[in-house]
Amino acid sequence: MKLLVINTGSSSIKYKLFDMEGKKVLSAGLVERIGEEQGHIKHERFSTEGKAEEKTETLAIKDHRTGLKRVSALLQDEQVGVIHNPDEIQAVGHRVVHGGSRFSEAVVINAEVKEAIQRLIPLAPLHNPPNLEGIAVAEEVFPQAEQVAIFDTAFHQSMPDYAYRYAIPQKYYEEHRIRVYGMHGTSHQFVAHQAASHLGIPMHKLSAITIHLGNGCSMTAIKEGKSIDTSMGLSPLPGLMMGTRSGDIDPAIIFYMGTKLNMSIEEIDQELNKQSGLKGIAGENDMRAIIARVEQGDQAATLALEMYTYRIKKYLGAYLAVIGPLDAIIFTAGVGENSTMIREKSCAGLEHLGIRLNPAKNLQKQKGIQEIQDEESAVKILVVPTDEELSIAEQTYELVRE
Ligand code: AMP
Repeated sequence: MKLLVINTGSSSIKYKLFDMEGKKVLSAGLVERIGEEQGHIKHERFSTEGKAEEKTETLAIKDHRTGLKRVSALLQDEQVGVIHNPDEIQAVGHRVVHGGSRFSEAVVINAEVKEAIQRLIPLAPLHNPPNLEGIAVAEEVFPQAEQVAIFDTAFHQSMPDYAYRYAIPQKYYEEHRIRVYGMHGTSHQFVAHQAASHLGIPMHKLSAITIHLGNGCSMTAIKEGKSIDTSMGLSPLPGLMMGTRSGDIDPAIIFYMGTKLNMSIEEIDQELNKQSGLKGIAGENDMRAIIARVEQGDQAATLALEMYTYRIKKYLGAYLAVIGPLDAIIFTAGVGENSTMIREKSCAGLEHLGIRLNPAKNLQKQKGIQEIQDEESAVKILVVPTDEELSIAEQTYELVRE
């Protein structure tokens, strides 16, 4: 079965075409700067050995519909195509950011599901509208395909109420659904599954802390295979320090910015979401650049890195306390998979809790899952590459195969 995974952003469409029988990626690409004067498309076709042939295009892409039509044409292209007509694609898996309390697993999309995603827009105003647009356009371009939604919040629906409620008046929960939802669920769930099968522990018995460190960062406490707490909340703003997001701050800072600095709600939103985190402290959000500066003794970059890893350590402590005996700590995503320094600093000084990282193993680079703990460590420390698209493809396949 040929299955397309789509991740639609406000001005972009990321896609990957899978052949599910052999779990092979046939093609992948990114449409960017939709709606701007000059858009850009990068399309790749993979051979059986995994080698890529690439085609790039610079052209005006008026809207998502135009973008996805172009993707369909590229998938059928004489040189870099992999299908002969759109009907060969039997299913499309859509990443949808917010599924609220309604969706705890993947669903086949129908009118009612679309309405539910629409109703959740106030909780994810930047994400759910382009996700809905992606669904509408895919229904037109691939009318024969079954459309499936996979929600970023779904894995965290197992959290108990005392973890997901905020201590604010009841009416905000009852009337406005304000609670912790958590994000990056597909990634946390995927790496936990991978770790469980690597360790030979059934998923329903796995206790782990997953640490997703990309441009956005979040941690999840997993007990008996289920998310019991997570560091993001109603939105992706709280928790760890991120590329440009502040993570946890005293909410009173917002009142101060509003009343003493006369900033509007929009300005404060921009400041905390786009100008904070690593960028706020060190002036840039790319971790590779920050680490290069730390190695040259740059003070702002050093402070940013200390703050970043200190916050990870605080969450490790908190989640150790609520989970109980732990099987594994799992690092994933761009920073978690690649930065030996961040992993080492985040685990340093936790030996009394049974967490002992082996510096030499941490430095070894290898493909796939890597164990980086010391022999005496009570807890396994793993590096597990995340693959959200594969996870979306697998969940979609499970549903449509039935
Ligand atoms: P992601 O959102 O998962 O693509 O992760 C993006 C982040 O990963 C950026 O901050 C990158 O700087 C960071 N990253 C990628 N490769 C490395 C590396 N080798 N060392 C440190 N950070 C990295």
